[in-house]
Amino acid sequence: MTNSFYTIYKKTGYHIRRIGIDMTSRFLRNNWLLNDRPGKCILLYHGIDLIGQTSINSRFISAQLFAQQLDFLQKHYHLVSLSDLVSDKIDPDRMNIAIVFDDGYRNNLQLALPILEKRQIHATFFVTAINHTQYSMLWADYLDLASNLSHAKITVGGDEYNKKNGVYKNVHGVSLKTMCKTHDWSFKKKIYTSFPKIEGLSQLEEWEIYWKTLSDEEIIKLDKSKYASVELHGYYHENLDVCSHTEAVRLITMAKHYLENLLQREVQSIAFPDGAYTRDLIQSCFEMGFKKQYAVDYLFPEDKTDPRIHSRLTINPFTNLSHQVWAILNNKY
Ligand SMILES: [Zn+2]
Repeated sequence: MTNSFYTIYKKTGYHIRRIGIDMTSRFLRNNWLLNDRPGKCILLYHGIDLIGQTSINSRFISAQLFAQQLDFLQKHYHLVSLSDLVSDKIDPDRMNIAIVFDDGYRNNLQLALPILEKRQIHATFFVTAINHTQYSMLWADYLDLASNLSHAKITVGGDEYNKKNGVYKNVHGVSLKTMCKTHDWSFKKKIYTSFPKIEGLSQLEEWEIYWKTLSDEEIIKLDKSKYASVELHGYYHENLDVCSHTEAVRLITMAKHYLENLLQREVQSIAFPDGAYTRDLIQSCFEMGFKKQYAVDYLFPEDKTDPRIHSRLTINPFTNLSHQVWAILNNKY
């Protein structure tokens, strides 16, 4: 009960703030809410498409909106590379912003890179080692697409899941996605065989932009751009806080070997898939050579003062430019 009150309180606060920012931006000539100020922000994107469709993958924005956001940020603030931002090669009097992408979608190369190159803005792309596995699609994308295209009751790990309001849930009302995020790979991999009808459906090709990840050759091509660096985002895109520490280290080691072999250089940064990590994993990753590690939100109080790990702000495809910029400047929504 307390939890749901807190959620309502937080959501109400968010919407009131958003309306306030909108009204202030619209009616005041002096846009003081969005004025440049000292600070740092790592801005996290996932996918770019041509139309800004969020019903298939809710973390996508259109190429046009991406360009519009970059133009605004470049005009008003200081855009820097991620490595410059975390090594404090910044302008101390301005808001310093680094652009990053997670998950390694092909559209990062095809749509995002030309927009970045045209503006001479550097971005870092965190990719998985999915090409080194038997799977051709990240598990969460497979689950999203399969849930979209299937309607029949399914069984995963001995439990039945029924589709309600577009989401597969078990008898306890827990979504299949939540079950995946809270269980290790031995559960997650069952997703790929639980929706027998998804294979071969024409929509899969039509929706390729929302799930197709970079090939090995494309990862190399992306990394060769003057305005792109490729770093690591796990092996299967597994949640590293729900498997054993030994298993987490094993998966990261395999992924690091794959990417270093591909790029023929050392890989020194990792963004934890789904923002999930443990304090022990920070130490083990550091010993493995990951000098810089990236969360989404910090998960432990000591992370804030730990120079090895940095939080990132995920862009919100459902909000407007002034609210998005306010969130960047304040590092929260
Ligand atoms: Zn991810």
